Amino acid sequence: MKLTEDPHRRLNPLTNEWILVSPHRTSRPWQGEVAKLQTTTEPTYDPNCYLCPGNSRVGGARNPQYTSTFVFDNDYAALKPDTKPERLDFDSLGLLVAEGEPGVCRVICFSPRHDLTLATMSPREIEPVVQTWVEQFRELGSREHISYVQIFENRGAMMGASNPHPHCQVWATSSIPEAPAKELIAQEQYLRSHKRCLLCDYISLEQRQQVRIVCENAGFVAVVPFWAVWPFELLVCSLRHMGGMNDFTPEDFRLLSEMLHRVTSTYDKVFQVPFPYSMGFHQSPTDKADHPEWHFHAHFYPPLLRSATVRKFMVGFEMLGTPQRDITPETAAARLRELATG
Ligand SMILES: [Zn+2]
Ligand SMILES: [Zn+2]
Ligand SMILES: [Zn+2]
Repeated sequence: MKLTEDPHRRLNPLTNEWILVSPHRTSRPWQGEVAKLQTTTEPTYDPNCYLCPGNSRVGGARNPQYTSTFVFDNDYAALKPDTKPERLDFDSLGLLVAEGEPGVCRVICFSPRHDLTLATMSPREIEPVVQTWVEQFRELGSREHISYVQIFENRGAMMGASNPHPHCQVWATSSIPEAPAKELIAQEQYLRSHKRCLLCDYISLEQRQQVRIVCENAGFVAVVPFWAVWPFELLVCSLRHMGGMNDFTPEDFRLLSEMLHRVTSTYDKVFQVPFPYSMGFHQSPTDKADHPEWHFHAHFYPPLLRSATVRKFMVGFEMLGTPQRDITPETAAARLRELATG
């Protein structure tokens, strides 16, 4: 079996799920949807933007004239802190089960400037954003009923971001959400059977092979994981073993800012457009237990496949069976590496 030619499946050891790779299909002609290319440049201030300084939001609140980052409780929060965490199980058969989910949803603006992105902000300008993430993680994670703090950014209309103003969200929940819950189990099992950390071992394998690594600095590495589903998916890991932002040193603020700028500006070069993506940090749960197994990382899931207008869809076999990709992670990594260093 040749990884460059033959259909095969690859294991994601972080979730224990498989993905299907079909490298022989990369020359297949495209006859599907071609999205409209968004080419408008944004103004530095938009009077109609609910995130710009001084503007009023839908709920009636008015934003302050903020000059750096700005955090507020989401006006349409998906979670409420005062929800009762009770469990319902109709007829005790485990067939109709529901649980109250207390939580907090916040919005973090990266900058007062409406037209910036992580790719166009300098690493120095990103540092206060990282600082704010760390503060939010600490504050929400220390609350009694919060077991997990998910920081994530949806960028671009293609990913459902309704506003181009640079911002992200924080959802803090009383339960551990599905994706990190799977990774928790896998990392725990790996630590138990190998007496080592899964991602520490994975990173050192990638560093030896130098096939899927896109870029690296003194603190973080960006790699197209062997099991990537999205065409240009990236995993950004800390080189040092640490559970999350609670363990950051001042140097980590600087190095993560630099890495995020590098990754996002590289993405923008792939198809010469602001690259849409969903990204988020996977950190140690804040359930007040020890998590020696957890290794801090971020996932970038960008949907673009072949051009600025052709995206990957998760439909058909992928929705009903297993996610699948044509272009191999190694080919995607080579392309990104060329753009990251060029
Ligand atoms: Zn704005
Ligand atoms: Zn580790
Ligand atoms: Zn993860």
